[in-house]
Amino acid sequence: MPELIYDLGAPGRQGVQLPAPDVPLAELPSAHLRGDLPLPEVGELETLRHYTRLSQLNHSILTGFYPLGSCTMKYNPVINEETARLGGFAYAHPLQPAEMVQGSLAIMYHLQEWLKEITGFGGCSLQPAAGAHGELAGVMMIRAYHQSRGDTQRNKILIPDSAHGTNPATSSMSGYRVVEIPSDARGNVDLAALKAECDETLAGFMLTNPNTLGLFEEQVVEAIEAVHAAGGLVYGDGANMNALLGVCRPGDLGFDVLHLNLHKTFTTPHGGGGPGSGPVCVAEHLADFLPGPIAGIVKEAGEGEAPEYGWVMPQQSIGRLKAFHGQFGMHVRAFTYILMQGAEGLRAVAEHAVLNANYLKARLEGAYKVAYDRPCMHEVVLEGRWPDAPDVHALDISKRLMDYGFHPPTNYFPLIVREALMIEPTETEDKATLDAFADAMLKIAEEAHNEPETLQNAPHTTKYGRMDEVKAARQLVLCCEFPRNIET
Ligand SMILES: *Cc1c(COP(=O)(O)O)cnc(C)c1O
Repeated sequence: MPELIYDLGAPGRQGVQLPAPDVPLAELPSAHLRGDLPLPEVGELETLRHYTRLSQLNHSILTGFYPLGSCTMKYNPVINEETARLGGFAYAHPLQPAEMVQGSLAIMYHLQEWLKEITGFGGCSLQPAAGAHGELAGVMMIRAYHQSRGDTQRNKILIPDSAHGTNPATSSMSGYRVVEIPSDARGNVDLAALKAECDETLAGFMLTNPNTLGLFEEQVVEAIEAVHAAGGLVYGDGANMNALLGVCRPGDLGFDVLHLNLHKTFTTPHGGGGPGSGPVCVAEHLADFLPGPIAGIVKEAGEGEAPEYGWVMPQQSIGRLKAFHGQFGMHVRAFTYILMQGAEGLRAVAEHAVLNANYLKARLEGAYKVAYDRPCMHEVVLEGRWPDAPDVHALDISKRLMDYGFHPPTNYFPLIVREALMIEPTETEDKATLDAFADAMLKIAEEAHNEPETLQNAPHTTKYGRMDEVKAARQLVLCCEFPRNIET
């Protein structure tokens, strides 16, 4: 079967018809023409077949269950796509004057207001393009805050050992020294270790809650108070907000700043390199430092009128972090999602996300060791290893799951759990799907003991077998040539 679109072509085939030129033909300078670029000559139908076939080689949320922990691979409602494609939104130009795009500005303004309400904060900027970008905005604001007060000796940020890798990366990119704080036996931040680092050099503390073990930090308020008492600020990694919607607000817990992942919690698409969106929300004392400009009301509404929206630059803004105004299409999608859910719907999201994860925990805990055995939030972390099956690893379990038609969970993260399998079912899956997944996991646990080689050689049913991940990283092939030596 031909693998490359280049193999499909034949001289003279084409998929587009260009109108006859209405200017005289000219010779192109030969220096600008490349002879080494064998562009395919293909018709429309074979092009569509090629890309459709490629798309089907990938697992997606529309083809099956996708319990990739911490990534919240939940269903993205189709209505989001409809609203994002409305002409007034889809064709708005970012340089149009504010008075021509009042509707778009209103969407952004109200989304900011809702995110503030959901998180319990006083300010919000939609500019950051991803979670990590929101973190960068947040830590830059922490830095700007200390500097604005002449408090310049603060040079370190504390980060728990369970944190997502973007947290330390963000802190060191912002010029801070990162100090790792261990977790205690219950999977919480070790409070004594945290307090020992709370001194006059402390700039901030980055905390994910629920943390990446899927657990609510039991002493979150005490931890925040300790950091505040030392003059530090607390950054909340809100990527796991799916577990808290409508139940608990980070602003009320005392966090100073938090990012959200619209592409996780608020059903804008992610994966495949598409645009994300990582709004950053802050308490009042940081609102002046937000990246801008942000959508604001520039003239209050008169009798029976709509207010006038415009761009507002916070007074001590850390500046612009993104071309134009962030990923506007994602703002429309998230706005639609929140509007469709309403307050009660959002709370139900969190309740069902937590219920589903605990259901899987209950079904699997006999066969797998639960890393930290207490009720989990929206995800559960298991250990993919058994003392009496020493040659089976979490990776083998994940690969075998593909044979049963499921996307693997997150592997080997958080780093503090041996052979970690981090499972996030999300609220959009029903009981039948959860049961089918649990059945497959239980079957795999049996196989691990009775026929370990079935796991070690998995996957067996996918188009490509197990990849050599080391080789893939060392001999990266970035063009679209598929490796010929892999059996298809
Ligand atoms: C996904 C995630 C991030 C980073 O978000 P991106 O949009 O991928 O940059 C940060 N922290 C946690 C806990 C996450 O799950």
